[in-house]
Amino acid sequence: WKNAPPSLRVLAQMVRAYGAREFTIYENERVTFEANYRATAHIARKLIEMGVGKGDRVALAMRNLPEWPAIFFAGVSIGAIMVPLNAWWTSGELEYAMKDSGAKLLFVDGERHERLKHCYAAAPDLERVVVSRAKGDLEAPAAALESLIGAVSDWTSLEDVGFPDADVAPDDDATIFYTSGTTGSPKGALGTHRNFVTNIMSSAYVAARTLLRRGDTPPAMPEPKVMLLVIPLFHVTACSAAMMGAVASGSTLVFMRKWDPELAMGIIQREKVNATGGVPTIAWQLLEHPARAKYDLSSLETIAYGGAPSAPELVKRIHQEFGALPANGWGMTETTATVTNHSGEDYLARPNSAGPPVAAADLKILSLEGESELPVGEVGELWARGPMIVKGYWNKPEATAETFVHGWVRTGDLARLDEEGFLFIVDRAKDIIIRGGENIYSSEVEDVLYAHPAVTDCALVGVPHRTLGEEPAAVVHLAPGKSATEAELQDWVRARLAGFKVPVQVRFVKDVLPRNANGKILKTELRALFAGEAVA
Ligand code: ATP
Ligand code: MG
Repeated sequence: WKNAPPSLRVLAQMVRAYGAREFTIYENERVTFEANYRATAHIARKLIEMGVGKGDRVALAMRNLPEWPAIFFAGVSIGAIMVPLNAWWTSGELEYAMKDSGAKLLFVDGERHERLKHCYAAAPDLERVVVSRAKGDLEAPAAALESLIGAVSDWTSLEDVGFPDADVAPDDDATIFYTSGTTGSPKGALGTHRNFVTNIMSSAYVAARTLLRRGDTPPAMPEPKVMLLVIPLFHVTACSAAMMGAVASGSTLVFMRKWDPELAMGIIQREKVNATGGVPTIAWQLLEHPARAKYDLSSLETIAYGGAPSAPELVKRIHQEFGALPANGWGMTETTATVTNHSGEDYLARPNSAGPPVAAADLKILSLEGESELPVGEVGELWARGPMIVKGYWNKPEATAETFVHGWVRTGDLARLDEEGFLFIVDRAKDIIIRGGENIYSSEVEDVLYAHPAVTDCALVGVPHRTLGEEPAAVVHLAPGKSATEAELQDWVRARLAGFKVPVQVRFVKDVLPRNANGKILKTELRALFAGEAVA
């Protein structure tokens, strides 16, 4: 590991400490920390042979497969910029990102290769495509690396070839992660090794301190755990927070081929999983599942999530029904994931907060118009700074200048801070509903709806109104076997909030609400449900 760049040193240390431990488990493939390290070094050398150098973009369009981390680490180890692509994108979106990033090399799994190959010719800088696992062969473990890197045929029998020489500095570019595209088209956030290392340290610090009570003695080091990772690695939360968090604690990551709550419960029981989550909806789907009682989920210690609003009801139910600690964190692609973190007794006491900032982060709340700082408790736009903030957007100088100002990132989220510095996200600036001049923050009404015993998924959106501008309407999914009517839910909200916040319409949907690959509710689609029905 003499040549390991800054962001890989933690991985190097974990290989020394936990080499024989399993790093990833996918179906019947089990890869140890040692095997992952050896494969990473092999791939790094192969990349150099293929002519990949510092600053070259290497794209990765793949499910959560065991080779994903090895390819990712190999690229960053030689100073290439890794570009994880949303594996759920349509070929049009993938083509856009291939062109935008100017990737020279693409690693792709068999399935995506079939969908993508017609647009390779349109990506001007693309020189080579490496396919892992032929279509229909996603379960064939030995074929995984063989088809990727001719020289490597089996995870377990790799030689230790060591890392190639590379001159990689902490502030060199390391990654381009695309934002989720919830409010517009996805933007590539250009991150550095320093951004990544900051997140590893935040994750390790948090993992060692996820305690129930104040006054408990925190362990000196985070303990190795088994984590079921059900969110996609192309998103910063999974890559930078969960995957690097696992590396920082010597933990095992269990991957799933496809999210399915009942399969997940089977895996939790079989592998004695200690932690899972990712986004709040995962936790809701486990909670509402009718077959839950059939599985032994007692190994679960933590259900951690972020990336989307979560209701206080969820916090309570995770604690009561799983006997596990809920944990929440706020962050964006532009902040390399974690900026705040919330768990234990603090979270149970403030279940509607996203927690205090991690050690290296700084937060402030500015007025939307004037950019003046607001007093404690007032709602305004959240700004953040610290060594986890990326340099800017790839290829987008105007958007970069608007969003990254004097070392701060303007988040587009509406929030307040309390006296102790705990952050409360109330809405996205783009989703706030203004009814005749009165602000309605989605999360306040959604939290009340979630507290209704039948509701397990919901969202508030604005519908147009001729004189008031807009009015609130709700889309709701009820837990299987439970019922509620529109009038009942309206009364429920009326009994708890001011009249103008009561949804004028409630739509029931059979499935959970539509979300993008990163677990964010697609409010634009929900607004369309009400289109042509302008009230009054
Ligand atoms: P785009 O920027 O392309 O519209 P996006 O903002 O959804 O997409 P991400 O960077 O994946 O892309 O998500 C960051 C956003 O997710 C934040 O700005 C915030 O709105 C939301 N978010 C993240 N963590 C939390 C949290 N703990 N609670 C509430 N919202 C959160
Ligand atoms: Mg965003």
